[in-house]
Amino acid sequence: MSDAPQINTALDQLRHRANEAVIDKPPGRRPTWAPPLPLEGELLEIFHDLQRLRLEDFARWVAQKPDKRSGAKAPEADEPILRLWASFHDPRNTFRPDWAGSGVHDCNGFKLRFGVKPDGQLVFRAAKGFDGTWATGPCWAPGSERASLLIRACELGEQIVAPLVGDAADVRIAAASRTLGWCVRCCRALTDPVSIEAGIGPECITVVAKMEAASRPEVLQTAWRQRQQDGRAELAKAGGKAG
Ligand SMILES: [Zn+2]
Repeated sequence: MSDAPQINTALDQLRHRANEAVIDKPPGRRPTWAPPLPLEGELLEIFHDLQRLRLEDFARWVAQKPDKRSGAKAPEADEPILRLWASFHDPRNTFRPDWAGSGVHDCNGFKLRFGVKPDGQLVFRAAKGFDGTWATGPCWAPGSERASLLIRACELGEQIVAPLVGDAADVRIAAASRTLGWCVRCCRALTDPVSIEAGIGPECITVVAKMEAASRPEVLQTAWRQRQQDGRAELAKAGGKAG
């Protein structure tokens, strides 16, 4: 048995969430799923301490780029946040014959980072091995003041991710999304006041409603099968190896 069953449960559930969230994304390249989480308490203090040390690689929570489709710009992120960046297997990687070329995105890990952008300071990371176990980190070499802050940040990061199980994950992510005016599912900027209040955009609410309309596993299974068919076709057309 694992020493940390709660973090593993949370990571497994978040992985399913990530896979569901990107089910309609094109299969040719890796999708993005990076829900925001509030940055508060001791971790926020550590952030301020790191800022005092003038690190260059953190706190880049500048305004988001305008949304490509709608042109809408996310509000300045005046609330300090973290984002949990899901990583996905390369859809063209043929290392796993059971899965490669299926066109289905498969989440293989997470990185919890300061700020809005993907190059924010890494707080905590987890990677799923092929045997199904999770490896967590990062393991900073102790010694400097900066290192001890980052080591503590990693502990706190794990404490933030571990309780994200079931409804608790939805509540935390939805609250942070509302604060930022982001869609809880795709993280694009919301402009319509009704959407902002709901924390989800019109396109995503349709997808979610479809998934919840019938029994969830069935709908997902059908969607995955369709995704596999479309994905294989698209990858074959793009010259990638299918099947
Ligand atoms: Zn959305």
